[in-house]
Amino acid sequence: MPAVLVPDRLTRHVAAGHPWLYVDAVPEVVGARTGDLVTLLGQGRRPIGHALFDADSPIALRVVATRKDERPGPALWRRRLETAWLLRQTTLDLSATDAFRVLHGEGDRLPGVVVDFYAGCAVLKLDTPAWLPHLADLTGAIVDVVRPRSLWFKGLSGQRGGDDVPEPQRPRLLAGEPPPPLVAIREHGMRMHVDVRRGQKTGMFLDQRENRRLIRQVARGRETLNLFSYTGGFSLAAALGGAPRVTSVDLARNAVDAARDNFVANDLDPGAHAFVAADAFAFLDDTAGTTYDLVVVDPPSFAPNHKSVRAAEAAYARLNASALRQVRPGGLLAAASCSSHVPMDMFLKILGESARQARRPLRLLEVRGEPPDHPTPLHFPEGRYLKFVLALAE
Ligand code: SAH
Repeated sequence: MPAVLVPDRLTRHVAAGHPWLYVDAVPEVVGARTGDLVTLLGQGRRPIGHALFDADSPIALRVVATRKDERPGPALWRRRLETAWLLRQTTLDLSATDAFRVLHGEGDRLPGVVVDFYAGCAVLKLDTPAWLPHLADLTGAIVDVVRPRSLWFKGLSGQRGGDDVPEPQRPRLLAGEPPPPLVAIREHGMRMHVDVRRGQKTGMFLDQRENRRLIRQVARGRETLNLFSYTGGFSLAAALGGAPRVTSVDLARNAVDAARDNFVANDLDPGAHAFVAADAFAFLDDTAGTTYDLVVVDPPSFAPNHKSVRAAEAAYARLNASALRQVRPGGLLAAASCSSHVPMDMFLKILGESARQARRPLRLLEVRGEPPDHPTPLHFPEGRYLKFVLALAE
């Protein structure tokens, strides 16, 4: 196995549970190719763990093991899945929910590997091609532990579809029967149809599950606007919670159509609600003056990297200020951000700026991060990407 000397100042981060080593921070990994397992050496060339090597990513090494009794390989991947599966069974309320994240990469100590579960259909997604040589081993572990009816491979994150995608990273069935065109799931009793093949990410944004539940809890009697609505998760939650009228806005026409179909799946009359395929920024401009009792704002990440953070701060502030202007006095703003480059304290400052711009002081009702099926190592702030804030607008 190739080996690499980890600089002293980083060995303590590795020991504390940080799962990444950047290419600029470690010496060249001689003789290793993408997908190779590498031994990490500390002071005196003492082994301190193992990592998976990626020759083309700024994250050169993803730490897969740090303990003496952990040998990287199929048995360890399987153990990680068993631990992750048990954690979900013991920390989530699964009485009326059958869609959740089984394995959250770094937070479940298989960095770069994501497995989501949709009512018997497991979906695997990888952040790095370094896992591709281990795909058969991962498949075996998932099949043994999760026992899904189908295991669908969604490819690499950020990968575009099309014929130019190299064969090994093409989406495909890994085990079981092909998933149906729409998988019917339940989330706290709410029904959703999930398109795991063509949908965004693995098909659904499972990380907002508990926040959708919160919206359901506070929506009674509130006319609601849901911006960046995707397949209507927050919209359904609001309508089922008693919102008399919900307006869903998303740029993607097929997502808006799916949202309407999801209303029907929950015996809600789509005719009583509005479904708009439009740019959310343009929609806010075009409807200035219209107001609601609850506005949900859950945009895609504005800061994909460190360099874009300043621009993203301004964009989040302006967007939430516009949204806030459409909240009636005493109404609620639910603002989310999924950029890992915008930490919670920064997001709260951004909302402060929105409140200042709109001249609408905010009072915080809930401030939340990821749910328990999206665990993050304490010593890995980069992993805490989700912010969700429910605030009362005066
Ligand atoms: N709240 C959703 C997830 C939102 S993901 C849920 O709970 O499931 C972000 C969504 O924003 C995507 O559906 C994407 O299609 C949409 N989107 C991206 N840019 C947009 C824009 N400029 N205007 C409106 N929607 C946009």
